[in-house]
Amino acid sequence: MLELAGSVAVVTGAGSGIGRASARALADQGARVHVVDIDAQRSADVASEIVRSGGSAFAHVADCSDSEAVRTLAAEVLAAEDGRVDVLHLNAGIGHAGKVEDITLEQWRRVIEVNLWSAVLGLHCFVPSMIERRRGHVVITASGLGLIPAAGVSPYATTKFGLAGLAQSLDAELRSKGVRVTALCPGVVDTDIIRASEFSGDARAERLEAAKFFARRGAAPERVADDILSALRRPRPIVVSPRSHVLPAWILYRIAPGAFLRLAGAIAGRISIVPTSNPGKRSG
Ligand code: NAD
Repeated sequence: MLELAGSVAVVTGAGSGIGRASARALADQGARVHVVDIDAQRSADVASEIVRSGGSAFAHVADCSDSEAVRTLAAEVLAAEDGRVDVLHLNAGIGHAGKVEDITLEQWRRVIEVNLWSAVLGLHCFVPSMIERRRGHVVITASGLGLIPAAGVSPYATTKFGLAGLAQSLDAELRSKGVRVTALCPGVVDTDIIRASEFSGDARAERLEAAKFFARRGAAPERVADDILSALRRPRPIVVSPRSHVLPAWILYRIAPGAFLRLAGAIAGRISIVPTSNPGKRSG
């Protein structure tokens, strides 16, 4: 089990939502936290919040989908920490919704780069030092949509299924080397994600409803952070959070995948409030 007091943590996408709550929770447990975000103001604000409440944090600005930026980040952190990172939370991500025929290739590429490629870069730059020290825990934020298929979110689900598979495969590979890996699979969490998400085609009209739904039904990011701490204390390859959002649908899908997919398609068709008025139009 990892002792968090005095440990070194790196959290990406830590300027808001789940990443911010994770960074604060780790700092509360006595970790020195490297707060990474593409948004300079946000990473500075979260690092200051932690320091003001008596913790230890450093702000970094990096586009985690950019290989040079992540190499530079890792070089800086590892130099400052004498080659040591104990907790790596690869969390940076963006949302996307839309029907497959409305999604541009640039949108596919951006979602894949920010959500999936950024995790590959983070692993590539930080995990060798963990293996060398035979110590560390990597948490990769996937999603409930990395375990359960849904209609209208194909690029997002592609990345999240990829991340969940990546985390589980790496946990199998690295546990004998002293490194554990957890796929964090949140349900609906009340964060900035909808505001920051891209919506393609008809789905654009659903942004406001989606934002209201996340605000009304979303769990607090701090609840997810509690589950992260519990996974660090008792390592598991998959953590769903909150369980009530993800577990019932996941079990149903595992028991009867065909019926589940028919139902998911039918529900998506019905709640797509917006008529397909301009099916050929591409969003940019
Ligand atoms: P959020 O928008 O509140 O926070 C995401 C943070 O990531 C922001 O501060 C943003 O500036 C940063 N970011 C975006 N692109 C980046 C990049 N290229 N490099 C570095 N930082 C970048 O959203 P959130 O809900 O806290 O999302 C965090 C993670 O949780 C994402 O991977 C998301 O897919 C996942 N997730 C969220 C939910 C939910 O319901 N909110 C559910 C499941 C999974």
